[in-house]
Amino acid sequence: MDMHTSFRSRLVAAGILFPTGVDGLWGRNGTFEAIYDGLERAITRAGLDDKAEVMRFPPAMAQKTFEKSGYMKNFPHFAGTVHCFCGDDRAHHKLMGQMERGEDWMENQQPADLVLTPAACYSVYPIVAQRGVLADDGHLVDVASYCFRHEPSLEPTRLQLFRMREYVRIGTPAQVLAFREDWMERGQAFARSLGLPFEVEVANDPFFGRAGKLMADSQRMQNLKFELLIPVNDGAGPTACLSFNYHMSYFGDTWDIRTPDGEPAQTACCAFGMERLVLALLRHHGFDLADWPAEVRDTLGLG
Ligand code: ATP
Ligand code: ZN
Ligand code: MG
Repeated sequence: MDMHTSFRSRLVAAGILFPTGVDGLWGRNGTFEAIYDGLERAITRAGLDDKAEVMRFPPAMAQKTFEKSGYMKNFPHFAGTVHCFCGDDRAHHKLMGQMERGEDWMENQQPADLVLTPAACYSVYPIVAQRGVLADDGHLVDVASYCFRHEPSLEPTRLQLFRMREYVRIGTPAQVLAFREDWMERGQAFARSLGLPFEVEVANDPFFGRAGKLMADSQRMQNLKFELLIPVNDGAGPTACLSFNYHMSYFGDTWDIRTPDGEPAQTACCAFGMERLVLALLRHHGFDLADWPAEVRDTLGLG
């Protein structure tokens, strides 16, 4: 048994994670959620002075919005679409027969105009775009959403459904770059306040296919993505728990968001992987919250 399997087994044995039979899909207990709630509070506090507009979303997007986002061009392998039964009695009878016989019954399922959200900030851009030209100081959003990515894994840190919290900046290149610079520092201070060891590295997204390799190289070369990595799974490399992304004018062009000078807006986001941060805390401070360092309990407001 390798070491990351053993961290996972310990989480299951302690009753912190409930297996569902699908890789990357877990239930969680009260201890896990208490840490999660503490992280939400701490992230809110870390950004409080900036008065970001709060947006919370369900784990799905309108299919139209999703299509326009361009996600299928870059990451078709991660996307999850929602399908529903829309048939009549006869179709239902057929469906029941197929299920009883253990046959494939998915042919009855019709697209529901919903796609599972791949990243929290994707829900933000169309809403900001709809409001027209940005104000002089641009915009800042505090967003959270459940996200889906079809990347089943045995690592407890790589989930198919997970919660992402982000600060998203929309504005001029100077505003957006200053935001990213600032949050790269704040992200590290945040990890320190949680007593977690980390490193920050340049990174890339796993763009799909042969053209994707070039996009990933170029993203890396231009320093568009950094990750704050924390060792969580023993016997494996450290895990990206925060990411600091600079999209240049990708979303500004896609959604026609403009700054007062008429230029396409630029965007950046600082994303917190909530389950990964909970697991990092459990990994480094143990499974008994009462034994955690007082400063960490304090940061999380655990009393
Ligand atoms: P990785 O390199 O580990 O695949 P990523 O680059 O895909 O991570 P982002 O797309 O930047 O991650 O997503 C923002 C944050 O969401 C990440 O920093 C991470 O903490 C979290 N995250 C991403 N994918 C997953 C996943 N499959 N399970 C749990 N958390 C995730
Ligand atoms: Zn984002
Ligand atoms: Mg990934």
